[in-house]
Amino acid sequence: GQCRVFCPTGAISIHTNSDKVWKALADPEIRVVAQIAPAVRVAVGDHYGLQKGRSVMGKIVNALHRMGFDEVYDTSFSADLTIMEESAEFLDRIEKGEKLPLLTSCCPAWVKFITDQYQEFIPNLSTCRSPQGMMSAVIKEYFRDPEHAAGKKTIMVSVMPCTAKKAEAVRPNSYTHGEKDTDIVITTTELIRMIDNFGLDFASLDPEACDMPFGFGSGGGVIFGVTGGVTEAVLRRLNPDHSKETMNEIAECGVRGEEGIKEFTVPYKGIDVKVCVASGLANARTVMERVKNGEAEYHLIEIMACRRGCIMGGGQPTRAGDRTKYARAKGLYNADNTMIIKKSDENPLVQELYAGLLKGKEHELLHNEFY
Ligand code: SF4
Repeated sequence: GQCRVFCPTGAISIHTNSDKVWKALADPEIRVVAQIAPAVRVAVGDHYGLQKGRSVMGKIVNALHRMGFDEVYDTSFSADLTIMEESAEFLDRIEKGEKLPLLTSCCPAWVKFITDQYQEFIPNLSTCRSPQGMMSAVIKEYFRDPEHAAGKKTIMVSVMPCTAKKAEAVRPNSYTHGEKDTDIVITTTELIRMIDNFGLDFASLDPEACDMPFGFGSGGGVIFGVTGGVTEAVLRRLNPDHSKETMNEIAECGVRGEEGIKEFTVPYKGIDVKVCVASGLANARTVMERVKNGEAEYHLIEIMACRRGCIMGGGQPTRAGDRTKYARAKGLYNADNTMIIKKSDENPLVQELYAGLLKGKEHELLHNEFY
């Protein structure tokens, strides 16, 4: 590794996370597994002169394989798991009329904001782990089986648009059986540096598919990276119909668009479900103050701490102007457009997982408590 920060007195040396990844990659006893978050794929291309915002997921997968990663998986797969669990939780709370509004829990900076500043709303947080957390827990469980482990130790590396994901990975509730689920988190910027250090000509790499059995997410899982995406995926899941018309109707219900606070109502089984989607912590504060003071009432609140969602996360390449912001959101919606499977519950890998590895372990691997 070349990115080492040395203390001038020589007393301490701080190793970057990429150093840890290179070290793991060089060890033949270790299986290094990567997961790539949705927002990452639309923020790498323009660094290499490719079209702004266009998904380069296939090239990233190829790059990671060349660097020596044994398995490369797609976090949009576990975003599907999050949708499954969060939708079920939402319906349960609606039915019982308790712990509403449901607050999304996939953004660690927002979770910290609630647990620090609005403690009375901690029970409202969804108990779902984030897609990063679910993915790592499932993969670690998969490789606990000696047959899958094949004598190797598994190190889970997640590639995230976000520095808060590093804090999430070491949160005590991000552990299963006393073991850390995600071992190393690197940001999109760190990934780009690793690709450059390895000497790859990224632009000319051919696209490659992710590995199985966790390498495929639905369209609903991909749009997680943009504000409103989680809610849109939940609404798809709740709707029994999967026709193109219904998908378009959901897309146009008010969930999309770059406004900082969006409010809309969707009919569901005889009730008007009131939804609020906000991004940016200043907007989050406005929403929570209104809820606290009884000025607004919702069933579901989706908050992303970064304005416009993870596409503008703190670990993404900087200097993103308006064109870039727009292009990244469009890049994710375009990726969704090309997916045959739009709904998380229709992802065959998800169904297989529930029938197999996850059976009886849903709570242990996919949920946590925030208090
Ligand atoms: Fe991280 Fe920002 Fe996404 Fe939250 S919105 S998960 S802080 S990138």
